[in-house]
Amino acid sequence: MKESQNKDQLQARNLISYLLLGLFIALTLGVTYFLYLEVQAMFKSRLQERIISIASTASVHFSPEDLDNITGPESVESQIYKNTVRSLQRIREANNDVKYAYILRKTENPNIFQFVADADSLDPTALIDLNEDGIIDDSDALNTPGDEYDVSEFDLLRNLGFLQPTVDQDLVVDQWGTFLSASAPIKSPEKDTTYLVGVDVDVSDFIRITNLALIPFVLFVCFLLLILVTLTLVLVKMWQRSLAVLQELDKQKDELLSIVSHQLATPITSIKWYIEMMLDGDLGKLTKEQEEQMKSMKSISADLSDLVGMILDVSRIQLGKMRIDKQKLDLNEFFKDILQVIEPRAKEKQQDFGVEFPSDLPIAMLDKRYTRMTIENLLSNAVKYTPEKGKVQLKVELRGNILSVTVKDTGVGIPKEDQAKIFGKLYRASNVRNAVDGNGFGLYVAKGAVEAQGGKIWFESEQGKGTRFFVELPLN
Ligand code: ADP
Repeated sequence: MKESQNKDQLQARNLISYLLLGLFIALTLGVTYFLYLEVQAMFKSRLQERIISIASTASVHFSPEDLDNITGPESVESQIYKNTVRSLQRIREANNDVKYAYILRKTENPNIFQFVADADSLDPTALIDLNEDGIIDDSDALNTPGDEYDVSEFDLLRNLGFLQPTVDQDLVVDQWGTFLSASAPIKSPEKDTTYLVGVDVDVSDFIRITNLALIPFVLFVCFLLLILVTLTLVLVKMWQRSLAVLQELDKQKDELLSIVSHQLATPITSIKWYIEMMLDGDLGKLTKEQEEQMKSMKSISADLSDLVGMILDVSRIQLGKMRIDKQKLDLNEFFKDILQVIEPRAKEKQQDFGVEFPSDLPIAMLDKRYTRMTIENLLSNAVKYTPEKGKVQLKVELRGNILSVTVKDTGVGIPKEDQAKIFGKLYRASNVRNAVDGNGFGLYVAKGAVEAQGGKIWFESEQGKGTRFFVELPLN
């Protein structure tokens, strides 16, 4: 019973440890991911500010009146076009990570902007490996003034591009790399804004730096998790080991108990037998004094025999070898026999001993020895743990086919902190341990005996006020 309790406790502890570990890992990963996003958002917002300022600064270098002269492919030869492209190139040269710088013009169709110039298109017919993939093909085609540019998918640019500086919220990952784009309107005091300058900034470095900044932190978190997992595993291993040691000790103790009690049982029976012979005068007539001594030896050997019997029962329960032998039992006789033993003890302590039981108790099928041991133990405990002049009461009731026995006393009671363990093997409560004789076997065997017969045993107690034990036994 104790072993399986220990095992259950250990399993529960292991489960709780694993659950807590899982929870902690999930929490740590969640917090790490959250921090990662926060750090990335912080870096990104700095980057956005910088890019928007590049676009805004660039916008003042161009005049709408000049740009009005760049109308189509024929304008590429004009000085104004060349100057515009050079200005765009200078913007790119001044900011290493700017990969594209371009100017777009508003058209009547809000979804279509017109290309004016970009930093790569000094000669739109030139063959340049624009995307640096080693081949010059269609994907390297340069833009020509007047080309149409579909902006229907770029809501920010389409709606606000000519009103205020804008910057993308999301990174754009395409075949050219990872970009963030910003634009600023090119304003003129005289007329409506019809031009904007845009810059695409390569942010691959930004991602690399953000990740690099987080690596030490992530490594630290991993290190912490590793330590935690190791500690949990070590703890679980230690628990398992200590359980194995406990189980081994328990087994050795049971074996020892069993051996000792078996070895004691035979000689005690012989002693009892010799005492009987002496008392019967088989070995010669005894003097009055010898007879008295023999009688007290008989009582001592009976107690000893009970104790050995109890130890044997404990080891039987422990080894799962308790055998119930149900026989016909006249309950009236049964309780009378028990009272004959208990009442004199109560009288000795001048206790108020009350008995209440129906006159028509039936003949029942019960294990006589175990049932007697149980009821006698409860009654003798009640008398033992109740001070002189206290009250002890036995109440027997028949409810259907259930025999209900209540033993109530006004004794020392069982402290709250001991109550959960009181049916444990050898367990004695702290308030009686050093004050009243006992061995802690009785309730353990009683519980085993009642449960083996399909019954229940429990109690209610208040320290200093008294205790009430209840037993219910099915009668068929
Ligand atoms: P023992 O009486 O020999 O110590 P038991 O197994 O019969 O062993 O009882 C176990 C413990 O339960 C006792 O030591 C005592 O602490 C407590 N106990 C049992 N019955 C009573 C009672 N009627 N009043 C107070 N304590 C009790």
